[in-house]
Amino acid sequence: MSKIKELREHFSSLTRLKYISNLLNWDLQVYMPDGSNEGRSELISLVGEITHKRLISKKTEDLISNAEKIDNLDLIDSAILREAKRQYEKAVKIPTELVVEIAKTATLGHKAWEKAREKSEFSIFLPYLEKMIELQKEYADLIDIGECRYDTLLDDFEPGATSKWVSSTFNELAPKLQKIVKKLDSSNDKPTQAVLKKYYDPEKQWEFSNEIIEKLGFDFDIGRQDKSVHPFTTSIASEDVRITTRIMENFLPGCLFGTIHECGHALYQMGLMEEIHSTNLADGCSLGFHESQSRLYENFLGRSKDFWNYWYPKLQNFFPENLKGYPMDEFYRSINTVERSLIRVEADEITYSLHIILRFEIERMIFEDKINIKELPQLWNEKMETLLSIEPPNDAEGILQDVHWSGGAFGYFPTYTLGNLYGAQIYNDAINSNPNLLDEFSQGNFSNLLSYLRKNVHQYGAIYQPRDLIKKITGKGLDPEYFTTYLKNKFYPIYKI
Ligand code: ZN
Repeated sequence: MSKIKELREHFSSLTRLKYISNLLNWDLQVYMPDGSNEGRSELISLVGEITHKRLISKKTEDLISNAEKIDNLDLIDSAILREAKRQYEKAVKIPTELVVEIAKTATLGHKAWEKAREKSEFSIFLPYLEKMIELQKEYADLIDIGECRYDTLLDDFEPGATSKWVSSTFNELAPKLQKIVKKLDSSNDKPTQAVLKKYYDPEKQWEFSNEIIEKLGFDFDIGRQDKSVHPFTTSIASEDVRITTRIMENFLPGCLFGTIHECGHALYQMGLMEEIHSTNLADGCSLGFHESQSRLYENFLGRSKDFWNYWYPKLQNFFPENLKGYPMDEFYRSINTVERSLIRVEADEITYSLHIILRFEIERMIFEDKINIKELPQLWNEKMETLLSIEPPNDAEGILQDVHWSGGAFGYFPTYTLGNLYGAQIYNDAINSNPNLLDEFSQGNFSNLLSYLRKNVHQYGAIYQPRDLIKKITGKGLDPEYFTTYLKNKFYPIYKI
């Protein structure tokens, strides 16, 4: 076997171990009885241990150094080598004790966070958060890529992204978003969500959402949808992609847009070119890029007028008791209501990114040692006031609302907003290169959109790095202007401005 093929096979075995772990997690969240937790976590940590040992082994080191001696590797093989080095060099710098310590703190921290949120008492979570931050600093100092600790943390989720770059992108974005929100505030004719908050039969919601994703291109031969408390997408192979959704009886958008969102993630996973199946490139090129696909489907397409031109009569037939005679235009406005609210996951397309910018600014301060962790709730509330002009009445609806920090996921949040920005730029390019696209949506034809995304984004998996891929697709680097232009063009008419 050639040296590069050996390396490829070795890393494919690690990807397959990840799939085993994904299957265990999927079952845990979808089907497993509540009492079986302990046995399951033993299995998951065993697979994790085997994976880690294999990754940091002498064999990995030798395979990489042999592959590095080969000249003229093709596009895919050189990307396989790049990713192999990336994974290996990070893993080998981290002592097993630190990995164990982080995992332990995450488990305890998660429990403490749940309790703290329930009682709305930050002090319950504080010691675990402090400990986790110390461990993350240690982790970042050991890996040490980029100019500062936060660069290292970001790189785990968004390869190549730097603190400086994200910061300058967000600094440009924030005032523009605030200006748009302010303008919408001045409207005398604002939409409301009232029609969405009626009773919608869960069975029918399930049926309708499945009908939509099938039409969008979700392939039920190699994928399935189930229900779980927190919706997610996972892969058990490139030809086995699972999504989940959550249904709320009295809130139509939950299942509807949640399903379309996860479908966007799934289409990415289902669209990888065969040559990279099971390799270390068989995934999105970054979390931000992954999120660009889910948000493109959920928001840019799923909350557009063209989309509902086709789907609204069908939705009316599903729920005549709520929607018969209710005008399509009002429905379209109601699913695009903008509101300054406390909770990130409930936020609309515009204010959502302000929630993210707040978290990014705080995380950056933490890792630059510019803030005492005890003072985080106060800082959180001040920033809510500055960015969104509202103040959380308690910590549960403020700093304690997200799960991420309890598990040590610092540097993760920015990828949500990068997803909006990548998504807007890609969507703009899709429409420019297919002028009939919007008309096709009104006719219920979504296949050319999918072909465009397959050709330009999905097939490549992680072959390219995000900043190279966006340039390859659109001819330029990431530019937040596409997103803000899209928002203005869409929301000013909705708010009759
Ligand atoms: Zn997502």
